[in-house]
Amino acid sequence: VEPIAIPRLPSLVLAVIQPSPFCNIDCQYCYLPERGSTKRMDEETLRHLGRFLFERPDRVHPGFTILWHGGEPTAVPVSFYERAFAILDSAAAGTQYRNRFSTNATLLDDRWCELIARWRVAVRVSIDGPQWLHDIKRVDRSGRGTFDRVMRGIEALHAHDIPFDVISTISDVSLDHAQDMWRFYRSIGASALHFCVEEVLGAHTVNSLGCRDAYARLQRFFATLMELRDAEAPGFYIRELDELIEAIPKLQDGGSVSREEAVPLRVVSVAWDGGISTFSPELLVARNVRHGDFIFGNVATHSAEDLWYTEKLRRVHSEIRRGIRACRTSCPHFAICGGGCPAAKVFETGSFESTETLSCRLRIKAIGDVVLARLSSPLVAQEARRLESAAVR
Ligand code: SF4
Ligand code: SF4
Repeated sequence: VEPIAIPRLPSLVLAVIQPSPFCNIDCQYCYLPERGSTKRMDEETLRHLGRFLFERPDRVHPGFTILWHGGEPTAVPVSFYERAFAILDSAAAGTQYRNRFSTNATLLDDRWCELIARWRVAVRVSIDGPQWLHDIKRVDRSGRGTFDRVMRGIEALHAHDIPFDVISTISDVSLDHAQDMWRFYRSIGASALHFCVEEVLGAHTVNSLGCRDAYARLQRFFATLMELRDAEAPGFYIRELDELIEAIPKLQDGGSVSREEAVPLRVVSVAWDGGISTFSPELLVARNVRHGDFIFGNVATHSAEDLWYTEKLRRVHSEIRRGIRACRTSCPHFAICGGGCPAAKVFETGSFESTETLSCRLRIKAIGDVVLARLSSPLVAQEARRLESAAVR
């Protein structure tokens, strides 16, 4: 009997864990369909999760992060994490990793901060700029703005000397306010900025950035941001600018960036009941007419190797690869994109095989062009010229 070859699985860089689908607030652009449900991961599932993540330590990337998200992570009690962190630490048996909360910060208080400090959890706060901007879309279930509650959470972080970075969603209302947002984020002591561009995802089916002039206004937004950073805080990290800048050496000799979320099992997402998804984290809550859901197994019954061999994972992976190939042959921005976000493709077009989406027009093309146009290096100039001539053709 031929021995079954154990695959050399891709390294695991990120696990997005949903302690509960519940969120205590109700942002207008939220894509999570079950954010009213208070179901919660139980201790047995946590044990299975520990085994699933750490049973192959050779596969765990040195920068491996466990991101608690997928609902509001602090909507479950502090005691949940006291158990969860102890269980995962025991399963890790010395393998290096880091916990991170991606939180709306509205529930953070001294008890949370003590937990965060004790376990050295990294913190990312979702906030959409100064109050007049934030309170338009980040509201609670009665429609009230959440800014004051977020700022109380941020004050608690400061009181405990806990650093935090910020993730901010750009929608139609923020497109013309880069300067206000920049000044605000600097004033609250954020250590870095991450932007999301509003997208059609899951339960969020209409994108406010579908307006005709969004492309040009988004370009002005990032051009302004670059100018402000250069003038006031040159070393300050802004993901949408710096990921592109860091990728530039890869463009040498016809290379391109690659996408972690297009590689099976490099990024995994685990639901409160142990269901496992991979590729883009947003697929954990997605459904599609041809594929059904994107749950490929469960931590109670599957290892990463088991998932590797499932027909469903292979089918989805093949479709994602066909989409990347189509992008490679049709899109002048392929080098700086790598073929797009699988979740954005399937949510917008119903298929991973598609190419351009509104999401990539804004996130990659609009921002990419403006960043490349403002950088000075021969390689960047060459890439910018190539994109310009492709646009003329
Ligand atoms: S804080 Fe996050 S999870 Fe909660 S409603 Fe807003 S976008 Fe959704
Ligand atoms: S920018 Fe869009 S069309 Fe171009 S490679 Fe990326 S996903 Fe494909």
